[in-house]
Amino acid sequence: MNIVRSRSELNSLKKNLSGTTSFVPTMGSLHSGHLSLVKCAKKAANNTIVSIYVNPTQFAPNEDFDSYPRDEKKDLEKLKSIDTDIVFIPSTADLYPDGLDSSYKTGESARGLETKFRPHFFNGVTNIVSRLFEAVKPNYAIFGEKDFQQLQVIKEMVTTYNMGTEIIGSPIIRDTQGLALSSRNQYLSEEELEIARQLNKVLRQDILLANMKKKLLDAGIHKIDYIEKRWDRILVAAWLGKTRLIDNIPT
Ligand code: AMP
Repeated sequence: MNIVRSRSELNSLKKNLSGTTSFVPTMGSLHSGHLSLVKCAKKAANNTIVSIYVNPTQFAPNEDFDSYPRDEKKDLEKLKSIDTDIVFIPSTADLYPDGLDSSYKTGESARGLETKFRPHFFNGVTNIVSRLFEAVKPNYAIFGEKDFQQLQVIKEMVTTYNMGTEIIGSPIIRDTQGLALSSRNQYLSEEELEIARQLNKVLRQDILLANMKKKLLDAGIHKIDYIEKRWDRILVAAWLGKTRLIDNIPT
């Protein structure tokens, strides 16, 4: 497994590769959900590149950029255990040499849902993903259905700007009780974890959004940002203490 820490190192390494390349962008603190994307990437192409970068432009000033969990050593062990070819761990100076502005505008997919509560978010995501795509130039990029709206925003971006990378969505990986794995689940106390595990169960139990909302609040969820149907999915974002959980299921 090769570890590269700059775009120029990545370029030199890429010159020696033959065949197709698939790419998995992550913010690290890797769990089985991320590793499932890497396994999907390995099936899609000859070479697999995984990036680890906690992207400042997708966090608002009041959000958890500073406290976001980081554990490079463990991440590298996990990526090595599933034979990842290249891990790209860039610096902010290297990725954003021209400052933090984005030249890519989000479209219809970014309307509502996350944007209503995190208006900065998808601008930050398209900003970093477009920069990573320029650096990696992948044939395929794998994104999790866990962040379902994000997957739609990325698909729309590559189509609108004709980026030449095919986007592949990969299913949500859950724990044994159905809780969608997330790096942010580390923030949850034991008690909160039990409540968080009700989220997916409630989504499956009812067909009426108003009933789901009531059941979630009864189960101990503190606040619901949204629970809505779109893209034949029910999508939810909810708060438990200082942790924001998102999930979605097919309707
Ligand atoms: P993150 O590191 O949270 O930015 O996520 C990196 C990628 O992993 C994104 O494409 C996510 O959608 C995906 N991902 C995160 N959690 C899961 C999960 N539980 N199952 C599948 N994919 C996931």
